[in-house]
Amino acid sequence: MSKELELIKNYDYLLERLYSRLPAKLSSKAYDIPELEIEYIGDHTEIRNFAQVCDRLRRDPRIVMRYFLKSLGMPGSLTERGTLIIYNRRVRRDTLREFYQRFLNTYVRCQTCGSIDTELHRQGKVWYIRCLACGATYTVQPV
Ligand SMILES: [Zn+2]
Repeated sequence: MSKELELIKNYDYLLERLYSRLPAKLSSKAYDIPELEIEYIGDHTEIRNFAQVCDRLRRDPRIVMRYFLKSLGMPGSLTERGTLIIYNRRVRRDTLREFYQRFLNTYVRCQTCGSIDTELHRQGKVWYIRCLACGATYTVQPV
């Protein structure tokens, strides 16, 4: 086992211990996958914690933003504070959550072991996912 992997395992172990002492509401599932904080400001839709979520998922916010805006077919931008703004539309929470789930399933969750501790790499035109938990690697469609 590599040192890096051992550290991750230890970290997971500590997190598990920590969360096992918290109320049931914060079960492992709730902390593994961050929820989107969606708000409506005037006619705009905002995902307030967008950059934070991307950070937790180890994904470049610009790529995740492109995925969302392309899926929705709507214009938007990322603010300096890490909020994603979708212009002139109140996009339903369900719709955003659905695209988020799809992104997770395609670009984050390991196809082999189901872990979300994965990395997205690019080699020329080829995009691939590398799982930090089980070591699996597989290619995905570019966003
Ligand atoms: Zn895996």
